[in-house]
Amino acid sequence: MEKDPIVIIGSGLAGYTFAREFRKLNSTIGLHVITADDGSYYSKPMLSNGFSSGKSAADLVIQSALAMSVQLSARIDTHAVVGSLDLAARCVEVDGRHHAYSRLVLALGAQPIRLPLEGNATQAILPVNNLADYDLLRQRLAGKRRVVVLGAGLIGCEFANDLCLADFEVHLVDTGNMPLTRLLPAEVARVLRARLEAEGVFFHTGISCVSVDHHDGAYRLRFSDGTLLDADVVLSAVGLRPDTALAHAAGLKVMRGIVVDQWLQTSDLHAYALGDCAEVCGLVLPYVMPIMHAAKALASTLAGKRTPVHYPAMPIVLKTPSFPLVVTPPRTEDGEWSFEANEAGIKGLYQDSSNLLRGFALAGDAVSARRALAQNLPAWLPANEVSHAA
Ligand code: FAD
Repeated sequence: MEKDPIVIIGSGLAGYTFAREFRKLNSTIGLHVITADDGSYYSKPMLSNGFSSGKSAADLVIQSALAMSVQLSARIDTHAVVGSLDLAARCVEVDGRHHAYSRLVLALGAQPIRLPLEGNATQAILPVNNLADYDLLRQRLAGKRRVVVLGAGLIGCEFANDLCLADFEVHLVDTGNMPLTRLLPAEVARVLRARLEAEGVFFHTGISCVSVDHHDGAYRLRFSDGTLLDADVVLSAVGLRPDTALAHAAGLKVMRGIVVDQWLQTSDLHAYALGDCAEVCGLVLPYVMPIMHAAKALASTLAGKRTPVHYPAMPIVLKTPSFPLVVTPPRTEDGEWSFEANEAGIKGLYQDSSNLLRGFALAGDAVSARRALAQNLPAWLPANEVSHAA
């Protein structure tokens, strides 16, 4: 048996799902999870619909670190920040102490992008990317009413809908003219906007936030068109960037994310990466389903059976109850959208020049067609595709 454990950095969905899948296959090799947070197991997607369901951060915890440690037969070090990796010596460093590994699994997640804004209150802008952020957001919103959400992407729209349903006054700001411009065709985005507006969300589009200042016990935002808006809380949902700093400093190959091949192997023989921090064969897919596929494949590989990850086409479900939406963005530009719409919903299909289905956007009642349509889409990463990180 290997003397040193598999060290997993990160206790998010990627780290814990890998550990769980690995334990199904192997009960003897040591697992050592090192995490900067408190190691609670929770469902991150719940963060953007927790207000309307009245959930506190504690309510969202599914299992404590202690319970996870028992369940996984793993050592879990919480509030432990890995400061550096020594790939040659095969150890990681936490507060000057070194922990040896046989194999290293990087499940570091992503970091919120911070906008370079002016003003004396930019530190008050809250990103929400983990339980602690969510807890802070709830504290700041207690007894308050006006929220500005910067960024009308997936997470921004979900928070806007959720906070609106929880009776906050919500202002959604974006540089584009429509929500979700990167994911949705304009025809569907327009209806999403109309539904969110009908729910009470105020859209401020085609402008960017320039500054945030303290003002009268709250905050004053100034926009690129000169307009001003006062708010009690400013939430940032302008995007996440794979957390690559540690890997980069250690000399691992990094592009948009930590570069890994179809076996989730980095440019170092003993180090692997998955989840929001990883770029798998050129794909950065910061969603739950790709993590589940990657965790299973990696568990199998590290338990002794080399298994490449395979990604089918994976629809993205928007948690916008005011207008349920499922989208699988086309991975080609060689095609066009066609739509069928009625009062109950919209069905948008993207077909390429050979009339093959390459993507879809479904809204309202039409979301029920999702499974059948997804089966007809080509895989995003077929099982037989082979690539190398080095
Ligand atoms: P994380 O959960 O971010 O975990 C990273 C871990 O690494 C943390 O434990 C952190 O403490 C640790 N860490 C980082 N650096 C260090 C260090 N130096 N030392 C020690 N530990 C470290 N996806 C969907 O598919 N559907 C949805 O509906 C959906 N909704 C979402 C809603 C919100 C609000 C957000 C933010 C994301 C949502 N996502 C959704 C995306 C999905 O939740 C993420 O892709 C997934 O949770 C990422 O898991 P992860 O383990 O890769 O990263």
